[in-house]
Amino acid sequence: ACTSDSGDDSTLTVCTNVPFEPFEYMDGSEYVGFDMDLMQLLAERLDQTVEIVEIDFDSIGSGSALNAGTCDIAAAGLTITEERQEAMGMSQAYYRADQALVVPAGSSVAGLEDLSGLQVAVQSGTTGETYAEEHAQEYGYEPVAFETMGDIASSLSSGGVDASIADLATWSAMIGDGTDFTLVQPIETAEHYGFAVQKDNKELLDEVNAMLDQAFEDGTYAELYEKWIGE
Ligand code: GLN
Repeated sequence: ACTSDSGDDSTLTVCTNVPFEPFEYMDGSEYVGFDMDLMQLLAERLDQTVEIVEIDFDSIGSGSALNAGTCDIAAAGLTITEERQEAMGMSQAYYRADQALVVPAGSSVAGLEDLSGLQVAVQSGTTGETYAEEHAQEYGYEPVAFETMGDIASSLSSGGVDASIADLATWSAMIGDGTDFTLVQPIETAEHYGFAVQKDNKELLDEVNAMLDQAFEDGTYAELYEKWIGE
């Protein structure tokens, strides 16, 4: 059913970037999470097997990976933006997201207005990076880009940077794991995640949207939401 040249007909190749809890992360050698379960539903619908292609987020968010044929679909907590709708085929929304300001436990930073002169970690190519850049002058901090959320967590732990701005649900999940960080300020950006396909792959885009419609209707979506995100 899939017209992509990035895999044979029995394989659904999925571009993602980990760790991005609770949407995609490693459990041992397995990729798990909300996005991964939804991709499983899509693969079942298409009678295909999921094959994960892990790449940097920048190549996913810019559309370059998809349009180079690296994978059939991107599942990466990917916010729907006008730019991305131009570069790729974006599905309907399946998750409402915001940003958050996070600091190491014990930091005196209590909000954006305390960031003057500090270094703020962001993930390269993300909407968090865009937000941080747009507000850097206003609050007087310096955005510092990292390739993965894992790299950001390491730098924040070791004092390499003072704070981070990235997706709220991911920070909440990472903090819930017992990492020594504090979420000091949710930043409401009213984003929506979607799945992305190659710009001209209308066939697969229709299947993704139909998979989501069905999951919304038959309760599967609600079940998975509860499983990975909670109330
Ligand atoms: N939702 C953000 C974006 O699309 C971050 C996604 C991510 O880091 N995986 O830019």
